Amino acid sequence: MNVIGPGGRTGSDVAAAGEAAIVLRADPYHRAVTAYGRDVAVSLAAKMMASVRDQLKPTEFTMRSAFECFLTLTWNGSRSELDDLLRRMPAAQLVDLDGRPEVIGATMGVAVRRDLPIAEPGDGLMAYADAALCTALRRRYKVAYADSSMLDTIRAEMDMVRRLRVSGDDSFFVVYQPLVELGDLQVRGFESLLRWRTPDGVVSPDAFISVAESSSLIVPIGWHSIRQTIATLATDITPRFGSQTCVTVNLSGQQLLDTQIANYIGGLIEEYRVDPAQVWVEIRENQVISLDSSAAHAVEQLHDIGCRICIDDLGSGFSALSYVRDLPVDVLKVDRSLISNLVNDGYDRAVVEAICEMAKAMGIVTVAEGIESPEILAKVTALGFDIGQGYLFGRPDVPLVAFGGVA
Ligand code: C2E
Ligand code: CA
Ligand code: CA
Repeated sequence: MNVIGPGGRTGSDVAAAGEAAIVLRADPYHRAVTAYGRDVAVSLAAKMMASVRDQLKPTEFTMRSAFECFLTLTWNGSRSELDDLLRRMPAAQLVDLDGRPEVIGATMGVAVRRDLPIAEPGDGLMAYADAALCTALRRRYKVAYADSSMLDTIRAEMDMVRRLRVSGDDSFFVVYQPLVELGDLQVRGFESLLRWRTPDGVVSPDAFISVAESSSLIVPIGWHSIRQTIATLATDITPRFGSQTCVTVNLSGQQLLDTQIANYIGGLIEEYRVDPAQVWVEIRENQVISLDSSAAHAVEQLHDIGCRICIDDLGSGFSALSYVRDLPVDVLKVDRSLISNLVNDGYDRAVVEAICEMAKAMGIVTVAEGIESPEILAKVTALGFDIGQGYLFGRPDVPLVAFGGVA
């Protein structure tokens, strides 16, 4: 059973643990509904919760709904005893259904009073247990422990979802960072990077993109920013820098699951009369795309339209080899973390060399991200990268006109 949070990891388990609250949910409940029908699933969930109650012997036990319950317990043992108790509880609980053994899963959020800033007994502990359950469900752990920041984090995320949702289209805009041909140091294109204008100032995507992705709000925000980007390609970039110049748009996994995404981009390409080869689509390496998914289908559709497919952040943690084998990849963008280490890390250099060699053999264009110094520029040029990007050439908040062109 997977366990996350302070439980079992703090080394503080010699002290008596005291009081804990647990929110327990039958999970995946709707799989049981699908397999057995709603009435049977409800009774399976109730039996599972009763079985957990019998194992934990709580001081208080409340059924919240057909598939969720809340319990508090006190115990005089150490934290590791509570951990053991929960760990021993199988993820899939065996329950009796008319004499037949059936299984149903349980996911738990656990709040231990001693770990948390709670002065008085009452609802406080329960709120933390709910926050821990959110975390367990999101990360697909069977048990998650609350820590002192979890409640604030989840509340702040909810607030951000609300603010993103009520922000008008004109709150979102894109800025452009140049991509430079390493052979002659001429501008080859621009990466379009999203910004959010709020009453407190302009916010960069690192602060909101994961919340926009987890709430699917990235889909409508993306429609707007992709339109802006292709419009700017037609009205500003092509006239100034020529019809060989590209723009790259970042697409999240959520956006690729939108079945209309390829039609949408194809429609904009027609509407603004740009060459589809000028539109490069960046997909992060860590976005899981299985070949039979509609996301992979969207990538193929975009490639068929004539857009270039780029794998972004290559080397940031996952292996992109399956993408290169299974998807129509045109461009590999090697992550800043690898590029900035080229000067002093032999291991990273070996990885980057291998990527460049593979790309060359397959006719794939390579882009080095995060070039900040002439030393790094010299390294990536010597390694044979085709294109470079980074603060050395220009920051994304600089107007297009600063990068030259003919207009
Ligand atoms: P990314 O696609 O890897 O974009 C490059 C990020 O690195 C940008 O951050 C850029 O400002 C920054 N950067 C570029 N050169 C340098 C450098 O030399 N040094 C350093 N330290 N940083 C450099 P930004 O604009 O904050 O974007 C962060 C991430 O948000 C992007 O990473 C991308 O994954 C995501 N993102 C941005 N715009 C969009 C969008 O329109 N849609 C989606 N789905 N994601 C976006
Ligand atoms: Ca990118
Ligand atoms: Ca990147």
